[in-house]
Amino acid sequence: MRKTLLAANWKMNKTAAEAEAWLEAFYPLEAEKAAADGLVEVAVCAPFTALYPLHRGLKKKNSVVELGAQNIFWQERGAFTGEISAEMLLEFQTKYVICGHSERRVLMQESSETVSRKCGAAAKAGMVPIICVGESISVRRGGLLKQWLEAQLYESLTFWDNQQEIVLAYEPVWAIGTKSAATTEDAQEACGYIRQILRERAGDLADDIRILYGGGVTPENIGGLLICDDVDGALVGGSSLDPVGFDKIVMAAVQLKTKK
Ligand code: PEP
Repeated sequence: MRKTLLAANWKMNKTAAEAEAWLEAFYPLEAEKAAADGLVEVAVCAPFTALYPLHRGLKKKNSVVELGAQNIFWQERGAFTGEISAEMLLEFQTKYVICGHSERRVLMQESSETVSRKCGAAAKAGMVPIICVGESISVRRGGLLKQWLEAQLYESLTFWDNQQEIVLAYEPVWAIGTKSAATTEDAQEACGYIRQILRERAGDLADDIRILYGGGVTPENIGGLLICDDVDGALVGGSSLDPVGFDKIVMAAVQLKTKK
Protein backbone atom coordinates (compact mmCIF):
# COMPACT_ATOMS: atom_id res chain seq x y z
CA MET A 1 0.00 0.00 0.00
CA ARG A 2 1.60 3.27 -1.11
CA LYS A 3 0.60 6.23 1.04
CA THR A 4 -0.16 9.31 -1.04
CA LEU A 5 2.51 11.98 -0.54
CA LEU A 6 1.95 15.66 -1.21
CA ALA A 7 5.28 17.46 -1.08
CA ALA A 8 5.62 21.22 -1.40
CA ASN A 9 8.71 22.42 -3.24
CA TRP A 10 9.14 26.06 -2.30
CA LYS A 11 12.29 26.45 -4.42
CA MET A 12 14.08 29.76 -3.65
CA ASN A 13 10.99 31.30 -2.07
CA LYS A 14 10.18 32.35 1.49
CA THR A 15 12.39 33.86 4.12
CA ALA A 16 12.41 32.29 7.58
CA ALA A 17 9.74 34.76 8.72
CA GLU A 18 7.58 34.01 5.69
CA ALA A 19 7.94 30.28 6.29
CA GLU A 20 6.75 30.74 9.87
CA ALA A 21 3.77 32.76 8.65
CA TRP A 22 2.95 30.02 6.11
CA LEU A 23 2.95 27.41 8.87
CA GLU A 24 0.73 29.56 11.11
CA ALA A 25 -1.77 29.79 8.25
CA PHE A 26 -1.53 26.15 7.10
CA TYR A 27 -1.65 24.37 10.46
CA PRO A 28 -5.30 25.18 11.34
CA LEU A 29 -6.57 24.11 7.90
CA GLU A 30 -7.94 20.65 7.09
CA ALA A 31 -4.78 19.06 5.67
CA GLU A 32 -3.02 18.77 9.03
CA LYS A 33 -5.85 16.70 10.50
CA ALA A 34 -6.10 14.51 7.40
CA ALA A 35 -2.39 13.80 7.63
CA ALA A 36 -2.64 13.19 11.39
CA ASP A 37 -5.42 10.66 10.63
CA GLY A 38 -2.98 8.89 8.35
CA LEU A 39 -4.95 9.49 5.15
CA VAL A 40 -2.04 11.13 3.32
CA GLU A 41 1.49 12.31 4.05
CA VAL A 42 2.39 15.98 3.73
CA ALA A 43 5.91 17.40 3.43
CA VAL A 44 7.40 20.84 2.92
CA CYS A 45 10.73 21.08 1.08
CA ALA A 46 11.93 24.49 2.16
CA PRO A 47 15.06 26.60 1.60
CA PHE A 48 17.84 25.78 4.09
CA THR A 49 17.34 29.00 6.05
CA ALA A 50 13.71 28.11 6.73
CA LEU A 51 14.38 24.57 7.98
CA TYR A 52 15.17 25.49 11.56
CA PRO A 53 12.22 27.84 12.12
CA LEU A 54 9.90 25.32 10.47
CA HIS A 55 11.30 22.47 12.55
CA ARG A 56 10.80 24.53 15.71
CA GLY A 57 7.26 25.51 14.66
CA LEU A 58 6.22 21.99 13.66
CA LYS A 59 7.54 20.57 16.91
CA LYS A 60 5.75 23.19 19.00
CA LYS A 61 2.47 22.38 17.26
CA ASN A 62 3.06 18.65 17.37
CA SER A 63 2.44 18.70 13.62
CA VAL A 64 2.75 15.61 11.44
CA VAL A 65 3.97 17.63 8.46
CA GLU A 66 7.41 16.37 7.42
CA LEU A 67 10.35 18.55 6.48
CA GLY A 68 12.30 18.26 3.27
CA ALA A 69 15.38 19.96 1.86
CA GLN A 70 16.09 20.82 -1.77
CA ASN A 71 19.72 19.77 -1.99
CA ILE A 72 22.52 17.98 -0.12
CA PHE A 73 26.25 17.39 -0.59
CA TRP A 74 27.76 13.91 -0.40
CA GLN A 75 30.75 14.71 1.79
CA GLU A 76 30.23 14.59 5.55
CA ARG A 77 32.08 17.84 6.36
CA GLY A 78 35.07 19.93 5.33
CA ALA A 79 36.19 22.54 2.85
CA PHE A 80 33.14 22.61 0.57
CA THR A 81 32.09 26.24 0.59
CA GLY A 82 28.37 26.74 0.12
CA GLU A 83 27.40 23.10 0.50
CA ILE A 84 25.24 21.41 3.13
CA SER A 85 25.71 18.02 4.78
CA ALA A 86 23.35 15.25 5.78
CA GLU A 87 24.17 15.85 9.45
CA MET A 88 23.15 19.52 9.15
CA LEU A 89 19.81 18.53 7.63
CA LEU A 90 19.20 15.77 10.15
CA GLU A 91 19.65 18.22 13.01
CA PHE A 92 16.19 19.55 12.10
CA GLN A 93 14.69 16.11 11.51
CA THR A 94 14.60 16.60 7.77
CA LYS A 95 13.04 13.48 6.25
CA TYR A 96 13.15 14.15 2.50
CA VAL A 97 15.76 15.63 0.16
CA ILE A 98 14.86 16.62 -3.40
CA CYS A 99 17.69 15.44 -5.67
CA GLY A 100 18.09 16.05 -9.37
CA HIS A 101 15.42 18.67 -9.87
CA SER A 102 15.51 19.80 -13.51
CA GLU A 103 16.32 23.35 -12.39
CA ARG A 104 19.52 22.05 -10.80
CA ARG A 105 20.26 19.70 -13.68
CA VAL A 106 19.95 22.57 -16.18
CA LEU A 107 21.03 25.71 -14.28
CA MET A 108 23.73 24.14 -12.09
CA GLN A 109 24.78 21.47 -14.61
CA GLU A 110 24.09 18.61 -12.19
CA SER A 111 24.66 15.29 -13.89
CA SER A 112 22.82 12.10 -13.05
CA GLU A 113 26.11 10.83 -11.57
CA THR A 114 26.14 13.79 -9.18
CA VAL A 115 22.47 13.23 -8.41
CA SER A 116 23.18 9.62 -7.51
CA ARG A 117 25.97 10.62 -5.12
CA LYS A 118 23.66 13.11 -3.41
CA CYS A 119 20.89 10.52 -3.13
CA GLY A 120 23.40 8.08 -1.69
CA ALA A 121 24.43 10.56 1.01
CA ALA A 122 20.80 11.23 1.93
CA ALA A 123 19.91 7.53 2.04
CA LYS A 124 23.03 6.62 4.05
CA ALA A 125 21.98 9.15 6.66
CA GLY A 126 18.47 7.68 6.81
CA MET A 127 16.72 10.38 4.79
CA VAL A 128 14.60 9.70 1.75
CA PRO A 129 15.70 11.17 -1.57
CA ILE A 130 12.94 12.46 -3.85
CA ILE A 131 14.62 11.78 -7.18
CA CYS A 132 13.39 13.95 -10.03
CA VAL A 133 13.38 12.81 -13.64
CA GLY A 134 11.59 14.24 -16.65
CA GLU A 135 11.93 15.17 -20.27
CA SER A 136 12.14 18.43 -22.20
CA ILE A 137 9.58 19.19 -24.87
CA SER A 138 12.05 18.35 -27.64
CA VAL A 139 12.72 14.91 -26.16
CA ARG A 140 8.97 14.29 -25.96
CA ARG A 141 8.33 15.53 -29.49
CA GLY A 142 11.21 13.42 -30.73
CA GLY A 143 9.49 10.30 -29.38
CA LEU A 144 12.33 9.62 -26.94
CA LEU A 145 10.44 9.76 -23.65
CA LYS A 146 11.02 6.16 -22.59
CA GLN A 147 14.71 6.14 -23.50
CA TRP A 148 15.21 9.45 -21.69
CA LEU A 149 13.56 8.27 -18.49
CA GLU A 150 15.44 4.99 -18.66
CA ALA A 151 18.82 6.73 -18.97
CA GLN A 152 18.08 9.29 -16.25
CA LEU A 153 16.84 6.61 -13.87
CA TYR A 154 19.67 4.16 -14.40
CA GLU A 155 22.31 6.86 -13.95
CA SER A 156 20.62 8.53 -10.97
CA LEU A 157 20.12 5.23 -9.18
CA THR A 158 23.64 3.83 -9.19
CA PHE A 159 23.79 4.44 -5.40
CA TRP A 160 20.69 2.35 -4.77
CA ASP A 161 20.96 -1.14 -3.29
CA ASN A 162 17.21 -1.73 -3.89
CA GLN A 163 16.60 -1.63 -0.14
CA GLN A 164 16.77 2.04 0.88
CA GLU A 165 13.50 3.95 0.70
CA ILE A 166 13.33 6.25 -2.30
CA VAL A 167 10.62 8.40 -3.88
CA LEU A 168 10.61 9.17 -7.60
CA ALA A 169 9.15 12.35 -9.04
CA TYR A 170 8.20 12.50 -12.69
CA GLU A 171 8.48 16.16 -13.63
CA PRO A 172 8.09 16.98 -17.32
CA VAL A 173 10.23 20.08 -17.79
CA TRP A 174 7.65 21.62 -20.14
CA ALA A 175 4.98 21.63 -17.40
CA ILE A 176 7.09 23.12 -14.59
CA GLY A 177 6.14 26.65 -13.64
CA THR A 178 2.97 26.59 -15.71
CA LYS A 179 -0.57 26.11 -14.49
CA SER A 180 -1.14 23.29 -16.91
CA ALA A 181 0.05 19.88 -15.84
CA ALA A 182 0.44 16.85 -18.06
CA THR A 183 -2.79 15.14 -19.04
CA THR A 184 -3.95 12.09 -17.11
CA GLU A 185 -2.86 9.89 -20.04
CA ASP A 186 0.61 11.44 -20.34
CA ALA A 187 1.20 11.32 -16.58
CA GLN A 188 0.15 7.67 -16.39
CA GLU A 189 2.23 6.70 -19.41
CA ALA A 190 5.41 8.23 -17.98
CA CYS A 191 4.86 7.05 -14.41
CA GLY A 192 3.99 3.60 -15.76
CA TYR A 193 7.32 3.53 -17.62
CA ILE A 194 9.12 4.57 -14.45
CA ARG A 195 7.53 1.75 -12.48
CA GLN A 196 8.38 -0.71 -15.25
CA ILE A 197 12.03 0.43 -15.19
CA LEU A 198 12.07 0.11 -11.40
CA ARG A 199 10.58 -3.39 -11.73
CA GLU A 200 13.38 -4.42 -14.10
CA ARG A 201 15.81 -3.26 -11.45
CA ALA A 202 14.14 -4.33 -8.21
CA GLY A 203 11.38 -6.80 -9.10
CA ASP A 204 8.21 -6.61 -7.00
CA LEU A 205 9.80 -4.03 -4.69
CA ALA A 206 8.85 -1.56 -7.42
CA ASP A 207 5.25 -1.83 -6.21
CA ASP A 208 6.23 -0.25 -2.89
CA ILE A 209 7.97 2.79 -4.36
CA ARG A 210 6.01 6.02 -4.53
CA ILE A 211 6.09 7.92 -7.79
CA LEU A 212 4.98 11.55 -7.61
CA TYR A 213 3.87 13.74 -10.47
CA GLY A 214 5.22 17.32 -10.53
CA GLY A 215 4.80 20.26 -12.88
CA GLY A 216 1.92 22.70 -13.05
CA VAL A 217 -0.13 21.04 -10.29
CA THR A 218 -3.08 23.14 -9.06
CA PRO A 219 -6.10 22.44 -6.85
CA GLU A 220 -8.09 22.16 -10.09
CA ASN A 221 -5.99 19.56 -11.89
CA ILE A 222 -4.68 17.38 -9.03
CA GLY A 223 -7.70 15.05 -9.25
CA GLY A 224 -6.94 14.13 -12.86
CA LEU A 225 -3.38 13.20 -11.92
CA LEU A 226 -4.02 11.19 -8.78
CA ILE A 227 -6.49 8.88 -10.50
CA CYS A 228 -3.55 7.39 -12.41
CA ASP A 229 -2.62 3.93 -11.13
CA ASP A 230 1.07 4.78 -10.98
CA VAL A 231 0.84 8.31 -9.54
CA ASP A 232 1.16 8.20 -5.76
CA GLY A 233 1.17 11.88 -4.97
CA ALA A 234 2.52 15.18 -6.19
CA LEU A 235 5.48 17.51 -5.92
CA VAL A 236 3.94 20.96 -5.90
CA GLY A 237 5.88 24.12 -6.65
CA GLY A 238 4.06 27.40 -7.28
CA SER A 239 0.71 26.25 -5.90
CA SER A 240 2.27 25.29 -2.56
CA LEU A 241 3.41 28.82 -1.74
CA ASP A 242 -0.12 29.75 -0.74
CA PRO A 243 -1.13 27.72 2.34
CA VAL A 244 -4.79 27.73 1.32
CA GLY A 245 -3.99 26.48 -2.19
CA PHE A 246 -1.74 23.72 -0.85
CA ASP A 247 -4.42 22.73 1.66
CA LYS A 248 -6.90 22.42 -1.22
CA ILE A 249 -4.48 20.17 -3.09
CA VAL A 250 -4.00 17.93 -0.05
CA MET A 251 -7.75 17.76 0.57
CA ALA A 252 -8.48 16.92 -3.08
CA ALA A 253 -6.08 14.00 -2.66
CA VAL A 254 -7.80 12.93 0.56
CA GLN A 255 -11.23 12.99 -1.07
CA LEU A 256 -10.03 10.97 -4.01
CA LYS A 257 -8.39 8.45 -1.75
CA THR A 258 -11.39 7.96 0.50
CA LYS A 259 -13.58 7.49 -2.61
CA LYS A 260 -11.30 4.79 -4.12
C1 PEP B 1 8.68 21.73 -9.40
O1 PEP B 1 9.42 22.39 -10.14
O2 PEP B 1 9.11 20.86 -8.62
C2 PEP B 1 7.26 22.01 -9.47
C3 PEP B 1 6.47 21.09 -9.05
O3 PEP B 1 6.92 23.26 -9.95
P1 PEP B 1 5.50 23.85 -10.31
O4 PEP B 1 4.45 23.14 -9.49
O5 PEP B 1 5.57 25.30 -9.99
O6 PEP B 1 5.29 23.59 -11.76
